[in-house]
Amino acid sequence: MEITVLELDDFKARFIVRGVNVAFINALRRIMIAEVPCMAIDEVAIIENSSVLYDEILAHRLAMIPLKTPKDGYVMSKECKCGGAGCSLCQARLYLDVKWEGEGAKTVYSGDLKPEDPEVAPVYDNIPIVKLSQGQSIVLEAYATLGLGKDHAKWQPTSACAYKYMPVIAVDLSLCDGCGACVESCPKGLLKLSEGSVKVSNVVDCTLCRECERVCEKGALKVGWDESTFVFLVESTGTLKVSDIVLKAVHVLRAKAEEFNFQLSKMTGGG
Ligand code: SF4
Ligand code: SF4
Ligand SMILES: [Zn+2]
Repeated sequence: MEITVLELDDFKARFIVRGVNVAFINALRRIMIAEVPCMAIDEVAIIENSSVLYDEILAHRLAMIPLKTPKDGYVMSKECKCGGAGCSLCQARLYLDVKWEGEGAKTVYSGDLKPEDPEVAPVYDNIPIVKLSQGQSIVLEAYATLGLGKDHAKWQPTSACAYKYMPVIAVDLSLCDGCGACVESCPKGLLKLSEGSVKVSNVVDCTLCRECERVCEKGALKVGWDESTFVFLVESTGTLKVSDIVLKAVHVLRAKAEEFNFQLSKMTGGG
């Protein structure tokens, strides 16, 4: 396997993986979405809510606010020694206490949530939660826990997680007459005419739409793909660094493969 990183920051990674098959790359994708734990609000104790939103809608909106996930320090509730009752090892509290006495309406934002642990704070301060009219107020305690995307979308650490085959564009120079129709048709502007023939730049950005192939009346251009090379895109909601999501997913996949191997060897008597 060979990996080439095209782009990497805390929120987004784009890389090429060579020498693998679709089963492997899809397993990695599914684990990144569904089996990398991150923090989200799971329970809310509403003390006062005179806003227009019902308590359960308010709780749902709070749950969908991405929270930062510390690398260490918290365990999954079901693995905690408190037995899932909730303690400082498996739960982080956030408080919301807003009353609006002014004119017009006030928007309550994610930044109004006060985290007990600053390492479990909202990733963004500007996510609207609810609008309050004069005299309305909200007082609540929210409890964030580690969870998995396979149990609820609020625990998905990725906002985008997808791959495509590496595009391969072949031009038969013996058929190409340099008409330029393919160049005009490409929505990504990847094709250029040079010295009477077609050149492809940044093939990694090709969407495999096949428009260039369709307009080539000479049948000189063929769009295909390499079945053992993939272009992968991962975006984080900000709860974890994108590099941590990828690495954690690799560890989970390895643990699953080891468990499978172990069970298989037990069934076959260790042979
Ligand atoms: S398949 Fe689509 S995106 Fe790719 S080179 Fe052809 S026209 Fe451009
Ligand atoms: S449309 Fe076909 S013939 Fe025309 S330049 Fe492109 S590849 Fe060549
Ligand atoms: Zn606990």
